[in-house]
Amino acid sequence: MNCPQCGNPMREGFVSAGGYRILWTPKDRRFSAWPGEGDVVLQKLSLAGKTIPAHLCETCRKVILSY
Ligand SMILES: [Zn+2]
Repeated sequence: MNCPQCGNPMREGFVSAGGYRILWTPKDRRFSAWPGEGDVVLQKLSLAGKTIPAHLCETCRKVILSY
């Protein structure tokens, strides 16, 4: 996959969070162990084998993932 911002090839990898939920949240939250209203749980547990494949552009500091 190429970066939608700069067009360069993105690095393939995974997003993980040390065993806790991985959330997308519309508000900036310091503590995200429990999902709130409007949150989207990307992965219930980010244990080994439960990671989310993701593409990364280090130039633009962008990560694209599917959940
Ligand atoms: Zn880029």
